[in-house]
Amino acid sequence: MIKPQITSQLQKLETPFYYYDLDLLRQTLSKIKEESERYGIHVHYAVKANANDDILRTIFDFGFGADCVSGNEISKAVQLRLPGSKIAFAGVGKTDKEINTALTNNIFSFNCESLPELEVINELASKMQRVAPVAIRINPNVDPKTHKYITTGLDENKFGINHWDFDKLSRLLKHLPNIKLTGIHFHIGSQITDINVFKELSEKVNTIAAWFEKQGLNLQHINVGGGLGIDYEQPEQNPFSDFTAYFKAFNDHLNLKSGQELHVELGRSVVGQCGHLITKVLYVKEGLKTKFLITDAGMTELIRPMLYQAEHKISNLSSQLALQTYDVVGPICESTDVFAKGIQLPESKRGDLLAIHSAGAYGEAMASGYNLRDMVKAFHSDQLLKHESLF
Ligand SMILES: *Cc1c(COP(=O)(O)O)cnc(C)c1O
Repeated sequence: MIKPQITSQLQKLETPFYYYDLDLLRQTLSKIKEESERYGIHVHYAVKANANDDILRTIFDFGFGADCVSGNEISKAVQLRLPGSKIAFAGVGKTDKEINTALTNNIFSFNCESLPELEVINELASKMQRVAPVAIRINPNVDPKTHKYITTGLDENKFGINHWDFDKLSRLLKHLPNIKLTGIHFHIGSQITDINVFKELSEKVNTIAAWFEKQGLNLQHINVGGGLGIDYEQPEQNPFSDFTAYFKAFNDHLNLKSGQELHVELGRSVVGQCGHLITKVLYVKEGLKTKFLITDAGMTELIRPMLYQAEHKISNLSSQLALQTYDVVGPICESTDVFAKGIQLPESKRGDLLAIHSAGAYGEAMASGYNLRDMVKAFHSDQLLKHESLF
């Protein structure tokens, strides 16, 4: 999956670092563009998945909008010249400062997650003498059949407004002059691989949209969020998610009114497969029952295995010897700092380069400086192929 001419370049760089294959990213973006345009669906990229400047530029160049979950994400998108009219803003805990940032930038939509938030947006918008475009984020109680830590659309989750608040909501909306209801929004979870889940979501959305219309609340757009999964087990065989089936599911099952726009917010499926975490084996250590490969990357560079029990495919870029069984662990002072247990890798030695695949989403974006570690660096294929003053 990593081209041989790149492997020799990777060896010259100080580890650990992220390596992004921008060609793969562009191919992914072309597919998304083709499949979404077939039905006139608007795509917002979920910036939190990966906010690397070069990645964002590449995505915005394709004409996609952004889904932001903080004021800083909005500012970053605007700095990279994304028009405010392409930005959706979600989050259960928007601060006054963040709401003001969004108002100043005339964003497409506040995806509002509670009744008190609606009142605050109304008040801040009134101070600026503006009318804030708002989509109500609704918790549809749909099971995304994914890991419980990345489920967001069940009754017990903190996200969105629940059905028991609908009557209050309808009354409230009529008394907030600086709010304009423009749509409804959903986002039920992440790493969803069962396309039927999106069919089930569409059916719930139809019922909820009909309720709004019955209250006389007109909806210019429906936003069904993101959540499409990627193949972490076989990234080489399946570098692209099934965008054809994903967009078709909404087109087939949503009852859109004429002129009503459909928006989606994809994160992981856009950037997941284009990123690899490159790390060196520091030590090979004999454990009681197992052999440890101790790497110079840990949970400070990629926390998904420790946070979500996620599994990433790992390969040794330096060795083609016979397979052995290893636990691949990081150097951080935490027992959970483990990338993989009992996996098969070619016999490995100190200095070998390992690639942890499918790390483009929620990898670099979640990096930390715990243990006073250096913040992880990132390089991409265009720089390596052109040798842009890297070595
Ligand atoms: C995180 C998030 C997304 C993107 O989710 P993916 O699973 O990465 O596609 C979309 N919308 C909202 C509101 C989010 O919080």
